[in-house]
Amino acid sequence: MSQYVAGIDLGGTNIAAILMDAAGQTRGWATWPTEAGSGPAGVIERIIALIKFIMDQNGITEQQLRGIGLGVPGLVNSREGKSVFSPNLPGWRDIPVAEMVGREIGVPLIIDNDVRMAAWGEKLLGAGRGWEDVICLTLGTGIGSGIFIKGKMFKGRDESAGEIGHVTVEKDGPRCSCGNYGCLEMYASGRGIVRQAREALERGSSSMLLELAGGNAGSITAATVCQAAVKGDRLARQVMEKTALYLGIALAGLANILNPQRIVLGGGVMGAGELLLEPVRRVVRERAMPLNREVEIVAAELGERAGAIGAAALARQEFILEEGRTKWTW
Ligand SMILES: [Zn+2]
Repeated sequence: MSQYVAGIDLGGTNIAAILMDAAGQTRGWATWPTEAGSGPAGVIERIIALIKFIMDQNGITEQQLRGIGLGVPGLVNSREGKSVFSPNLPGWRDIPVAEMVGREIGVPLIIDNDVRMAAWGEKLLGAGRGWEDVICLTLGTGIGSGIFIKGKMFKGRDESAGEIGHVTVEKDGPRCSCGNYGCLEMYASGRGIVRQAREALERGSSSMLLELAGGNAGSITAATVCQAAVKGDRLARQVMEKTALYLGIALAGLANILNPQRIVLGGGVMGAGELLLEPVRRVVRERAMPLNREVEIVAAELGERAGAIGAAALARQEFILEEGRTKWTW
């Protein structure tokens, strides 16, 4: 009998679900709107219905489903299967989501933060596969990461390790939402890139950015800045160079601390591709210690499905490959 696992990526807007077979191949895929306004109970009902839906669609029976991986945004207590707090999901505080979903479907379930699940995806099936000491960064609206040491994810005491976005890279930099000043996130996240571009425009620098954004500085996105940089726009290039400098400084520090084999960079900001990667590699070569500067810095491979793929890949590892050695039954 073929075995399958399901991977769920819960977001503030959409819930993505995939089915994965024992070989790690994706067999089915669907997304539904989250309808976050319906509160935790409503959203969890939709997660359960979506899992049943993709199983039906692909003719998979309950006996064939070995387990579920679920990525939840915000702070997660994976040992207790709880969503501790999720700023983008109204009412989500101390929700025993693993128990609520697992009880209904009747299979073991593993949960973690959504960025960590995306990191698992890259580690097991993407740009980090085959490596033991890997750091995966997601450069999205904010910055998140997953740190793997000897193949295991390092989470820290309260599961809040890996907040690379809140490392200080500029002591007199702008104030961050975390209360600190000059965090990496103020420069190398999507929001940080947009902030830098708008400030440069306000200082009167000329640029094609306004035109690309339809004449409205409020419509500038990180993608617009990348697009302008690719076309050779000076302001956009300066912003991307500064982004690469601060990112490189943070990664050189990380490389010195952890001596990883690979650093994998994903998320929307990586739409800039080599335009960002090349200068980041240069800064790391200039600033890390001799052995640590050899770290390979590569682009993520799984794209926007990384979260759901990662959740399924982790479930596959836990419940098929390791046959449920750890008991994640709720
Ligand atoms: Zn911060």
